[in-house]
Amino acid sequence: MTDQRPDGRLPNPNGCRWCGADRHGHDQRWVPGVKWHGWEPPTSEQRKHRMLARRARRPDCGRGATDLLAS
Ligand SMILES: [Zn+2]
Repeated sequence: MTDQRPDGRLPNPNGCRWCGADRHGHDQRWVPGVKWHGWEPPTSEQRKHRMLARRARRPDCGRGATDLLAS
């Protein structure tokens, strides 16, 4: 099972532990392997992995700009 959504966006670190959706507007959802479920809080391991995945994906922006200002 992967945490990645089909559209390539990473789930909210606090999203549902089964499907990664935000709590707001979750209601009942169906996912393979879990079937119908209500929103469940992610485990602390899931939160950590999601946050690390987000950080890894974020472009290293701003560094070039500061270099230009310093020179
Ligand atoms: Zn869910």
